[in-house]
Amino acid sequence: MAIIGAGLTGLWTAFELQRRDPSLSIALLEREIAGFGASGRNGGWCSALFPRSTASLAARHGREAALAMRRAMVDTVDEVGTVVREHGIDCDYRKGGTVVYARSAVQWRAAQAEVAEAAEWGVDALELWGPERVAARDALGAVYDPSCARVHPAELVRGLARLVEQRGASIHEGTTVTSWQQGLVTTDRGTVRARHIIVALEGYGASIEQSRRDVLPLYSLMVATQPLSAEVWADIGLEHGQTFSDGRHLIIYGQRTADDRIAFGGRGARYHWGSAIRPEYDRSDRVFDHLASTLRELFPQLPPLEITHQWGGPLGVPRDWHASVRYDSSTGIGSAGGYVGDGLSTTNLAGRTLADLVTGADTELTRLPWVQHRSPRWEPEPLRFMGANAGLLAMTAADAEERVTGRSSLVARAMAPLLGH
Ligand SMILES: Cc1cc2nc3c(=O)[nH]c(=O)nc-3n(C[C@H](O)[C@H](O)[C@H](O)COP(=O)(O)OP(=O)(O)OC[C@H]3O[C@@H](n4cnc5c(N)ncnc54)[C@H](O)[C@@H]3O)c2cc1C
Repeated sequence: MAIIGAGLTGLWTAFELQRRDPSLSIALLEREIAGFGASGRNGGWCSALFPRSTASLAARHGREAALAMRRAMVDTVDEVGTVVREHGIDCDYRKGGTVVYARSAVQWRAAQAEVAEAAEWGVDALELWGPERVAARDALGAVYDPSCARVHPAELVRGLARLVEQRGASIHEGTTVTSWQQGLVTTDRGTVRARHIIVALEGYGASIEQSRRDVLPLYSLMVATQPLSAEVWADIGLEHGQTFSDGRHLIIYGQRTADDRIAFGGRGARYHWGSAIRPEYDRSDRVFDHLASTLRELFPQLPPLEITHQWGGPLGVPRDWHASVRYDSSTGIGSAGGYVGDGLSTTNLAGRTLADLVTGADTELTRLPWVQHRSPRWEPEPLRFMGANAGLLAMTAADAEERVTGRSSLVARAMAPLLGH
């Protein structure tokens, strides 16, 4: 068994295969070090979020399939917690839920509609919080989703890498895969023969010719503050284990870290021509400044504070924003990805599902609607460049439009089907 990429998708798949068949020989082929990609540098939201909404899943796959997907996502948040506890992975896992502030009348109406819709589907236990329960000064209220845990992403992925190695898998770091075909993976250090091959490259799939247009690498950037005092945290009103965001279209996300910093990130970095991924794209002063000022706007009670860390990385966006798990038993080749920004927990579900598919088991997981889903490919350049950057601009414009008009954005409504809503 060869697994290409030692991020959370590759590692969870290895871990789950080891659970089902401890005698299996598993080699993970990783260009850098295990956890180098998005898995080691994300926002640490172990959430039940899936890039496509329940309504769009139901429209495409039927109501029962959509609800099964939602239940699987909610269960996955706890499953990650169970594994890290049972195996002693010290990654600050704490399930405190997510608070999504509604910071305008438009966002408040959207929050009410979201909670009402979730109640109708009957799986996600969202709560509507009034202003008395939220401490963000200008918030009219919030949506609270109990299905989210805060983790330290690098500790999770490195802990998992150690675990799968202890159980017999080999992780070949510094090994660049250049192509794969039935039974054979080609790398810069030679070839690997394997009956089963799992491709777990997420955004980096765009760097390899044969999967260039399967996924679009979109950058998300983050900052972390110095540790804040207990008084400041009491004023902000976020407990340990809680993550936070607000109702804007251009996504932001934050968490209170175990050592009392705010780790805070957002989209908005531009897409690079030809799906290029380069170390210098992990950093953008424009985006870092924007994140720091957004944080201050969210929590004006913050004292002057130092931003101590800045980083970023590429996540993977499929053309229809529909994550998928695929396996072809005739070739032995499988893959999982396209999680957009919701991969931390979803990779665990992918790993369990791939392990069932590879071992030929017919389970509830292998019948979920994302299994064998095939997203269309992205357009060739220059269309990909124009479309991706126009989409980012549209989300920024939609937020501005709502601020000015006080009504829900027409731009956002026009873009919704393209963004999985
Ligand atoms: C800044 C940021 C914040 C995020 N925040 C969150 C969050 O809070 N919650 C959430 O759910 N999701 C979040 N995400 C998304 C989440 O991190 C990803 O969806 C998830 O980690 C994907 O895991 P993966 O293993 O599929 O991919 P990756 O972790 O990207 O792993 C792919 C691996 O393949 C390796 N590789 C690349 N090219 C080759 C090659 N040619 N040969 C061999 N190996 C190769 C890479 O080095 C990498 O280790 C965030 C992403 C980013 C970038």
